[in-house]
Amino acid sequence: MIPDLLAVARRAARAAAAVCLAVLDESPPTPDAMAKVGKEPVTIADYGSQAVVLREVAAAFPDHAVIAEEGAEHLLASAGDEGARRITGVVGRVIGEPVTLEQVAAWIDHDGGPGTPYTWVIDPIDGTKGFLRREQFAVAIGLLRDGIVHAGVLACPHLDVDPADPSAGRGVLFSAVAGGGAFAEPLAGGEPAPVRVSQAADPGGVRVLGSVESAHGDPALVTAVIEEAGLGGGMVRLDSQVKYGAVASGLAEVYLRPRSRPDYRENIWDHAAGVAVVTEAGGRVTDLDGEPLDFTLGPKLTANRGVLATNGAVHDLLLEGLVRAEGR
Ligand code: AMP
Ligand code: MG
Repeated sequence: MIPDLLAVARRAARAAAAVCLAVLDESPPTPDAMAKVGKEPVTIADYGSQAVVLREVAAAFPDHAVIAEEGAEHLLASAGDEGARRITGVVGRVIGEPVTLEQVAAWIDHDGGPGTPYTWVIDPIDGTKGFLRREQFAVAIGLLRDGIVHAGVLACPHLDVDPADPSAGRGVLFSAVAGGGAFAEPLAGGEPAPVRVSQAADPGGVRVLGSVESAHGDPALVTAVIEEAGLGGGMVRLDSQVKYGAVASGLAEVYLRPRSRPDYRENIWDHAAGVAVVTEAGGRVTDLDGEPLDFTLGPKLTANRGVLATNGAVHDLLLEGLVRAEGR
């Protein structure tokens, strides 16, 4: 039997989220102490997360192609005894069997090649700055079929399960496959429930999401668009593709991501999974010119300028606001 694409992706994302949370558990608790150890936690978690994702993909779909953010070459060159011990330790605990550094490296570099229509697009930790701050981050697993976004899963370990009730805990898994709708379930376990974008169309209530890192966008342009389009719902800054999950589940109407500089091109792993989730939840995703995102051109969205994800109802309003804001 052919394994279910989404079931594999969801299992992979759960394992990856467990790796990320285990690394945070073992890391210094305070931001100051975290700053002293530098990027080490994110390095271990990045490689460990990608390894457990591709372990699942390689087992279920050994022939599928892969485009993923990390490569094992640097890990093998730089891990040292301590790094090797930590990464094999955390991966081994999550998958429930001992592993060697060579096995972890082989999973990280797994790529079934171009023989099928499918390409997995993986960001093992999207929002590394948010991860280090213990704020929002995501494990993002997208799947392209013939270069078109076909499915996506986003594990968001620090997102509230119920925004109205923080005592319900954190950790949400979004999933979507083309034509099948979008779903959310608690990472801790539970049934997937359908999610739907907000139906709000009145600009006065429109809520906008952007990056925490101002260097990842153009905050002045975002402010100008909010003014030009008359958006009155406020702006919230979140790291990572959690923003796509928030739009898909109706927590905001807009995720606006202008280019940080004219030559910046977005990585496909920063968007593939999120596009699947928002589109299947009834939303719309284009670039800032209203053009569809073109995932056929390799690891970067070289044909697109920025990204706009909305609930659909306000998409044109935003595109028109952008034209006016850029003409100022
Ligand atoms: P966010 O948390 O939404 O700001 O997005 C995080 C992603 O931004 C990372 O995974 C990076 O791939 C990406 N990124 C890094 N530098 C830039 C940049 N100069 N402009 C836009 N995105 C960037
Ligand atoms: Mg990323």
